[in-house]
Amino acid sequence: MSRLSSARARAAAREADLERDLDRTMESARGSNADDEHDPEGATIGFERAQVTALLDQARRQLGDVDRALGRLRAGTYEMCESCGRPIGPARLEARPTAVMCVVCARQAAGARPEGVPCGGDDGTAVSDESQLARQSHPT
Ligand SMILES: [Zn+2]
Repeated sequence: MSRLSSARARAAAREADLERDLDRTMESARGSNADDEHDPEGATIGFERAQVTALLDQARRQLGDVDRALGRLRAGTYEMCESCGRPIGPARLEARPTAVMCVVCARQAAGARPEGVPCGGDDGTAVSDESQLARQSHPT
């Protein structure tokens, strides 16, 4: 499953990049007069640091997701929904190689409408969700 290993390489590279960013932000925080709470520069650095930290958290979660998927692959349960045990489906795994649940269970886990409630364009919603995630992991 080379798709997963390249996803892992990307996530690891992103994490390393963000760690460098965070180091740089910390560095410039030390360089400036960060003790002064009223220093606008200090506020900017604090904001930047919070942003980079959030991105780093996200990257680490992604890395964790990939590792989890690799573990499932080794265990032979990669294509099975973790929640209902049904196949996740190749199209979903293609769009999101780290998916551990089928679309229905993932949506329920995310606190969305229960299955069976008409909302119009159910499948369309899922597709746009997937492509949004794909865009996030492949910034252009
Ligand atoms: Zn399921």
